[in-house]
Amino acid sequence: MIKLRRLPPPAYLTAARVDELTEEFKSKSSRVWNHDAIKKQLLDSSNSKCAYCESRLDEESKYMEVEHFEDKDTYPENVVRWENLLPSCKRCNGAKGTHDVRAEPIVNPYVEDPSAHLYLKAFRFRPRSPLGRSTIGVVDLNNSARIVLRRFEVGEAVIAAIAVASDRYEQWRTSGSTRSKNILVGCLEALLLECQPPSEYAATAATVLHDDDDYEDLVGRMQSSGMWSDELAALHASSRALVLL
Ligand SMILES: [Zn+2]
Repeated sequence: MIKLRRLPPPAYLTAARVDELTEEFKSKSSRVWNHDAIKKQLLDSSNSKCAYCESRLDEESKYMEVEHFEDKDTYPENVVRWENLLPSCKRCNGAKGTHDVRAEPIVNPYVEDPSAHLYLKAFRFRPRSPLGRSTIGVVDLNNSARIVLRRFEVGEAVIAAIAVASDRYEQWRTSGSTRSKNILVGCLEALLLECQPPSEYAATAATVLHDDDDYEDLVGRMQSSGMWSDELAALHASSRALVLL
């Protein structure tokens, strides 16, 4: 889970339409939130990922569900209130179900920074606060074997990429060639891009990266060799902001 920034409501959701759709939902239980303009703006605000688990929701919003943070059964007046809608995968939306967030609050990644409430250990989320503990339980962030396995695979790929980059550094140290330097910088860029907000499970990737001593050593060596460009430094800093340690 990473901190998200909410975009303005889609033009479709005028105040008048919100009133009209809310009444339609109350009288006919229609799926009034299920509109492409709403889905597109939600996907654009989350890099096309689930706001809770960071799984990808691409493919023309086929896999996306509009999640009502305050559930629509208990709070029908908020059924299309923009601030109440989140992009979610089927798994997270289903796990949360009709949980009442006013009675037992959970992290809303558009409002709270998840890193204040959650950390990752052995690819499982752990609570840093009561809000974090509720979030893990309500959204069921650890119980699915598939989701923990995906985090493990992402973490393994990061560790493997650090090993490759360290080898590339040694190759550059031996040869001193421009070509080997460019290959090394390219490796680092590719690695850091996997740890940015648009990447799937970016919080996991960034956490594994910044918790790795070999990565830290490599950064130090590249800095002293004058290879740590402003671009790499910027990517390093933006990935650091996603870390759940
Ligand atoms: Zn999800």
